[in-house]
Amino acid sequence: MAFVITAPCKDELAAECVDVCPVDCIEKGEDQYYIDPAICIDCGACQAVCPVEAIYYEEDLRPDEQPYFEKAKEFFSK
Ligand code: SF4
Repeated sequence: MAFVITAPCKDELAAECVDVCPVDCIEKGEDQYYIDPAICIDCGACQAVCPVEAIYYEEDLRPDEQPYFEKAKEFFSK
């Protein structure tokens, strides 16, 4: 399981999450940040500081947000 960054991050790129992640698993993509699901330890620290509420636990994603989890996996598979 992992936390996932969704649509509100797009072009917002606030980056508060990057500073608080204890395992440094958040990286900047072209238009949003991504969480590496293979490294995330589900601590929730990033969710607590996101100013645009873009971060959700994988199991709490709405169906229309599911593609953001796929995008994250794809981003880190490169
Ligand atoms: Fe990092 Fe914790 Fe957020 Fe996972 S839940 S991305 S480990 S801050």
